[in-house]
Amino acid sequence: MLTSVIGYPRIGALRELKFASEKYFKGEMDADALEAVAKELRAAHIRSQKDAGIDFITSNDFSYYDCLLDTAVMCGIVPQRYRDLGLSETDTFFAMARGYQGKKGDVKALAMKKWFNTNYHYIVPELEDNTNIRCNSQKVFKEYEEAKANGVETKPVVIGAYTLLSLCRYTGNKTREDIADDVIAVYLEVIKGLKERGAKWIQFDEPSLIRDLDAKDKEFFLRLYQQILKEKNGIKILLQTYFGDVRDIYEELTALDLDGIGLDLVEGKQTMDLINRYGFPKDKLLFAGLVNGKNIWRNHYAKTLETLDALKEKGISVVLSTSCSLLHVPYTLDGEDKLSEDYKKHFAYAVEKLGELKELSSLAEDSPRIKNDAFIKNEALFNTGRDCADEEVQRRLAKIKDSDYVRLPERKEREQIQKKALNLPKFPTTTIGSFPQTLDVKKNRSSFRKGEISEDQYKAFNKEKIKRVIKWQEQTGLDVLVHGEYERNDMVEYFGESLSGFLFTEKAWVQSYGTRCVKPPIIWGDVSRKKPITVEWSVYAQSLTKLPVKGMLTGPVTILNWSFPREDISIKESMTQIALAIRDEVLDLEANGIRIIQIDEAALREKLPLRRSDWYSEYLDFAVPAFRLVHSGVKAETQIHTHMCYSEFTDIILAIDNMDADVITFEASRSDLLILDALKKFNFETEAGPGVYDIHSPRIPSVDEIVAALHKMRQKIADDKLWVNPDCGLKTRGEEETRSSLQNLVQAAKIIREEA
Ligand code: GLN
Ligand code: ZN
Repeated sequence: MLTSVIGYPRIGALRELKFASEKYFKGEMDADALEAVAKELRAAHIRSQKDAGIDFITSNDFSYYDCLLDTAVMCGIVPQRYRDLGLSETDTFFAMARGYQGKKGDVKALAMKKWFNTNYHYIVPELEDNTNIRCNSQKVFKEYEEAKANGVETKPVVIGAYTLLSLCRYTGNKTREDIADDVIAVYLEVIKGLKERGAKWIQFDEPSLIRDLDAKDKEFFLRLYQQILKEKNGIKILLQTYFGDVRDIYEELTALDLDGIGLDLVEGKQTMDLINRYGFPKDKLLFAGLVNGKNIWRNHYAKTLETLDALKEKGISVVLSTSCSLLHVPYTLDGEDKLSEDYKKHFAYAVEKLGELKELSSLAEDSPRIKNDAFIKNEALFNTGRDCADEEVQRRLAKIKDSDYVRLPERKEREQIQKKALNLPKFPTTTIGSFPQTLDVKKNRSSFRKGEISEDQYKAFNKEKIKRVIKWQEQTGLDVLVHGEYERNDMVEYFGESLSGFLFTEKAWVQSYGTRCVKPPIIWGDVSRKKPITVEWSVYAQSLTKLPVKGMLTGPVTILNWSFPREDISIKESMTQIALAIRDEVLDLEANGIRIIQIDEAALREKLPLRRSDWYSEYLDFAVPAFRLVHSGVKAETQIHTHMCYSEFTDIILAIDNMDADVITFEASRSDLLILDALKKFNFETEAGPGVYDIHSPRIPSVDEIVAALHKMRQKIADDKLWVNPDCGLKTRGEEETRSSLQNLVQAAKIIREEA
């Protein structure tokens, strides 16, 4: 049985691409040197797949920042304001991704959004009426030829026209229908160009097909592909879907003149039913996504083989594939020296998944599996129980009552009590939690980890930092302070380390956006809090000032969503366990005099099912209660904040209100404040701080710009409910730019107070 990989991690086993790009941004490396690093990575990644014996290897899955942005550039979809900068091709690309502030101008970055239900973020292409759509990129050709020169025949991938046009933002009057023909022409040119260069297959990724599609969507998709496929000129086309099933378009899709169709049998709950009900054409290859591209647990061979056998029995020609790109898992277990073999044997990262594909493909051909070593070893993993249960956790779960999910008194009443108790000015100013993680901060943490300094030294350093940041905030004139989060590497890993039930990795980096990677912990077993986690830092910070210092926690939904979850118990059960653990911390903070507690739910939307019909029953109905369980035990005067980033949450706004926090801060600046309309329309009750500037880019917002943003906000949010804050934590920023940005923010709040 042949094997296929949809896409491969591109940042490098040791995050080489990240470090090179960052040098480039700082002017310490030129474009050629950066490209040399990239080229070496591409070659190594393709080589690793080739050596593992994978048959369908993808090229052009590389990107300097994001593949959707590459695809937009391929079609010439570059907004005027970036073209006007007159930068090189590479720098125009980075200007769209990261914003540009320099000699040639001052332009914000394009919006960034979560890629379906993952923690990867894509750059939202913007389509203006005057965009001249044309084939504008040689990247796909170049990367195909590069792989070929390295001796590997690949299937080049581009994101398909339907997904591209579904994810674009249309800033003028034109719609996707208006530009379809121009876009089709680009795809035809790409097909032609690849054909001329000898490519045999092309992969078009169309994950948007797994969303709810209406008649117009279907018609539009078919219009695109009927035209594209008409001129495929002998090249074979694989239409690849992932992150779910294609229930709305299965019959039409399988009737198209495609050569391969990639279906997700891991997350696609109905994929098998669809195949059973409608069959699968004999003249096409089914790329069966059975090796999970998102989680790190070993594949259960017996189960996978059962599915493969069932497909074969139907006479379907199957290529065994990953369920999605391996971009979403870390590179290799090879460097995980601190995890013992007892744990490691349960996991497979990208490299190990190649091995699984290979083993499964030969097992699929091989009937007496019982005698096969790989099979026996795999069965043993799943048949012998893991050491992961905690009876105390089970007892606590069983005792939860409905009233534990309800905070009293009601929000309206609390609001008055809190206004009196906290006595904050109108339009209170605050930040989201972290302050710049300068090199000395990181060094302090890593020296402590390595045992080079004592715990006392480690803490003394952080306390100095806290002292400094408290003074800094007081001098800047902020109203609600934070301690700066110097002790945290990552908002999830930090908590995971203090909770039992989590496992940590050393090098399991996964790309989150651009050059940013995260290292998700693994939920291994039942979760509980061993001892107070943040109390000492928060209490110390609060002792230095009369202004309120926010306690800073990560919420259960985010901890779960940014970890690799268990596959042996439900997400709901895991989330509730984590909620109980964080609830303990909330109550301890309150008991120690912390008056405002922020519980970050940055990733609330992440596991929201991609189909509306599943939103509540399969997610919000337990995620929202999990958050409520965390804070329902506090007193009326304790103010609960939450924070969310990069969420498009206009459509789940009522669920967010229903989390029953007192204040929410969120990302808004990069999506042009679109969410404000929804707040007004739905009469949002929670006090709100839509970010007044974008912290994901190094540019400094001017006072005028912030005042203008606040003016827009005041039209939609009542004055007594509006907070003033950046749109996320400041840890990735430098100190100087942060200083100026926050001064401007406070200045803008003062101007608004005078107006109001
Ligand atoms: N409190 C966190 C911080 O400021 C929130 C980060 C986030 O939302 N991603 O860093
Ligand atoms: Zn955030």
